[in-house]
Amino acid sequence: MQTTKVKAFGAASSEADLDQMNILRRSVLPKDVELEILYCGVCHSDLHTARNDWGGTIYPTVPGHEIVGKVTQVGEEVSSIKVGDLVGVGCLVDSCRTCESCKKDLEQYCLNGFTGTYNGHEKYLDAQTFGGYSEKIVVDEHFVLKVPENLDAAAVAPLLCAGITTYSPLRHWKVKEGSKVAVVGLGGLGHMAIKLAKGMGAEVTLFSRSKGKTADAKKLGADEVIISTDAQQMKSIKGKFDLIIDTVPYVHDLNPYVATLNINGTLVLVGYLGELDPMLHSVPLIMGRKSVAGSVIGGIAETQEMLDFCGKHNIVSEIEMITMQDINTAYERMLKSDVKYRFVIDMASLK
Ligand code: NAP
Ligand code: ZN
Ligand code: ZN
Repeated sequence: MQTTKVKAFGAASSEADLDQMNILRRSVLPKDVELEILYCGVCHSDLHTARNDWGGTIYPTVPGHEIVGKVTQVGEEVSSIKVGDLVGVGCLVDSCRTCESCKKDLEQYCLNGFTGTYNGHEKYLDAQTFGGYSEKIVVDEHFVLKVPENLDAAAVAPLLCAGITTYSPLRHWKVKEGSKVAVVGLGGLGHMAIKLAKGMGAEVTLFSRSKGKTADAKKLGADEVIISTDAQQMKSIKGKFDLIIDTVPYVHDLNPYVATLNINGTLVLVGYLGELDPMLHSVPLIMGRKSVAGSVIGGIAETQEMLDFCGKHNIVSEIEMITMQDINTAYERMLKSDVKYRFVIDMASLK
């Protein structure tokens, strides 16, 4: 298999800062699309992976799965995308395409394991996949999304992960006009959850630890903000929500949020991966037919549906543009919740 060397930014170990390196991309196969990466969003998962928070990171690692770019080459069997198109690549670059999940357009739940855009297995090169903190990427046409032309390309990048990760549960739990939705945590995922839920006609509440985010949350579309560290405020809203989207990246007590669910309500975890501590109390679940569930990103068809929904409703992410060289500072700021509300890397800075 022929390869091309491209510039990238990645981590050599869990303790190392991210730095410039070279990586190999496969040459374009008949069904492949090559894009020059223009913008890449910075997801908290990038940080978790660079620092091996979840275990299993293969080094060196190149994060980035909120990619927007211009098509520079297509394979001879590519039919739906042409050179010059503005396209997106999210968290998935491959899956088996044959299992029950894949056949239902649920590639994110591929029974044989989906291939992540980074830290996945690049089957053609028998190496790990490298993400969007790089000049170019080569991806099978099936996993390449069309970007609506009316939206700002840089502000679209975060839709490819933060957008779809919150859109998918909103759709799955059938949020509609008048639904009562709450979002926990106002970061990259949280601010998209507010905008998308609002776009679907829901009444939206934000739970935040940060008192300074109230005005912003309201500008983003929240009808109400509850400071989650204020027990009095938490007690004031028992039994209200049909759906809670919890985006908090670290372990936290879910029980106070379960108390705010309505009968038949569901709290969906999208942020924290790991054991709950403290554990859930079963009585409120049983006595209110409540659920605690999880959800991971979204399938390719649903990601395109989300992009088209955003195009129609003029929804994009609130971004702070950074250079590639700013990434280590950006990670530190993200850990302090000091980002309004997504960093996006201008990839021209890598040249
Ligand atoms: P982010 O921008 O850092 O936002 C997380 C927000 O959670 C913060 O802004 C903060 O909001 C709140 N928060 C942070 N630390 C907290 C703590 N220790 N306790 C309570 N609240 C805390 O992160 P993100 O990019 O939105 O990602 C959120 C999580 O989702 C990450 O763990 C990421 O890996 C995961 N993720 C999952 C999927 C999926 O498919 N399920 C996809 C993408 C990302 P306030 O200041 O408002 O409290
Ligand atoms: Zn992500
Ligand atoms: Zn599959």
